[in-house]
Amino acid sequence: MNKFEPYLEILKSSLESLDQWREIFGSEQTVSHSLPDHEPIIQVIETLREKLEGNYPFHHPQYAGQMLKPPHPVAWIAYSLAATINPNNHALDGGPPTSEMEKEIIHQLAAMIGYKENYLGHLTSAGTIANLEALFVAREIHPGKAIAASANAHYTHRRMSRVLGCKFIEIPVNEIGQPDFRFIEKHADQIGTLVVTPGTTGLGHVEPIAKMKHLADEFGFRIHADAAYGGFFKLLEQELPSRAHWEILSECDSIVIDPHKHGLQPYGCGSILFKDASAGRFFKHDSPYTYFTSDDLHLGEISLECSRAGAAAAALWATLQLFPLSEQGLGNVLKKTRRAALNFSDRIEKEPGWELYCEPELDIAGYFKTPLKNSIHELNRINRNVFDAGTRSRKNGFHLSLFAIPADLFTKKFPQFKKDAPQAVILRSVFMKEEHYGFTDELAGRIFSADSD
Ligand SMILES: *Cc1c(COP(=O)(O)O)cnc(C)c1O
Repeated sequence: MNKFEPYLEILKSSLESLDQWREIFGSEQTVSHSLPDHEPIIQVIETLREKLEGNYPFHHPQYAGQMLKPPHPVAWIAYSLAATINPNNHALDGGPPTSEMEKEIIHQLAAMIGYKENYLGHLTSAGTIANLEALFVAREIHPGKAIAASANAHYTHRRMSRVLGCKFIEIPVNEIGQPDFRFIEKHADQIGTLVVTPGTTGLGHVEPIAKMKHLADEFGFRIHADAAYGGFFKLLEQELPSRAHWEILSECDSIVIDPHKHGLQPYGCGSILFKDASAGRFFKHDSPYTYFTSDDLHLGEISLECSRAGAAAAALWATLQLFPLSEQGLGNVLKKTRRAALNFSDRIEKEPGWELYCEPELDIAGYFKTPLKNSIHELNRINRNVFDAGTRSRKNGFHLSLFAIPADLFTKKFPQFKKDAPQAVILRSVFMKEEHYGFTDELAGRIFSADSD
């Protein structure tokens, strides 16, 4: 029996029931008409399976590299079931039930954030396109003004500002990830929208929304929160050191949250919400192809994308039925991932010859093995070696990522190091799986005993 057997039984029986619905329309069906012989399918799927084994073990807690993990099986069951119909959430007519599910999801996300009544939002195929929408609205509201984001913001903000023809201002950060407020004040008259990142992709810093919001009110710019990775930590705000910032998340003008990061979803699921529904006016368009049977607001009318998988909405909808957006629901999963990061950091701090770069604010840890010589060049060499060593063994291996910090920032924290390389390259671990909790000692042990020479 494979690990997924119990789930497959559920999928099988629901597919059978769905077939009965299909039969209502007559026995002529697309699927059965174009079904090729069984044998070639078996062969091609077998080849696919072999190719897929070229992946890193994303499913296993020994993988603590990038923000990657398999979706909850309920998500892919729901996705597969809906995909046999293939609804398109571009328009309500493209998939009435999955569009309704999407609206329900948006209400749930809005309730989590604390947005009241007059918000607007929809799912997207990823965080980058969701951020592009936010920046597009930013440009329309303040034409000619700049988009500003910290040096720790996701690299796509600069790229998308370029796509939009907007000036982009990069705000310097200090060694603990705090944006330079003086710099923001100095450039405030040029800024139309400031991007704040509660949960940076690199080390999971929660940028200070409270302070940024204060500046925004003083100088009249807007705030966009890129919570693609961090958004669901809102559920844990009571226990986060950054609580004050999460508590005013609802004061941001727009927010991006990626269900395919921390929402247990397969890729293809981001989201964007605007605090004020009037942002929808920038998306209005007429199309001769769609929108003939419903007067209700179409998801396609408030989005830059056209076709979008209704199956992604079905998957997230089903997942949220089982893991509601509460501290006890999805929050419970994130609680474990955060505890895993904290436990692991404790181990690093206690281990002679190892150093924590900074205490994890969410569930990402940055750390390094200290070289014998206080040289950044040497630090980079031995930490790269540790990183490489982990991928050599399958059963007792580990998978981390590397994170580059400008040498000037690094030496602010660790002044004993000689600046003989432009960047310090440290180790980074994202503990975003529940399974990491309970595996951190084992993982730390493997990393400590890795050969770094
Ligand atoms: C992952 C991430 C993005 C990009 O989202 P995609 O879904 O990968 O397009 C943007 N911002 C932050 C903070 C992220 O962590």
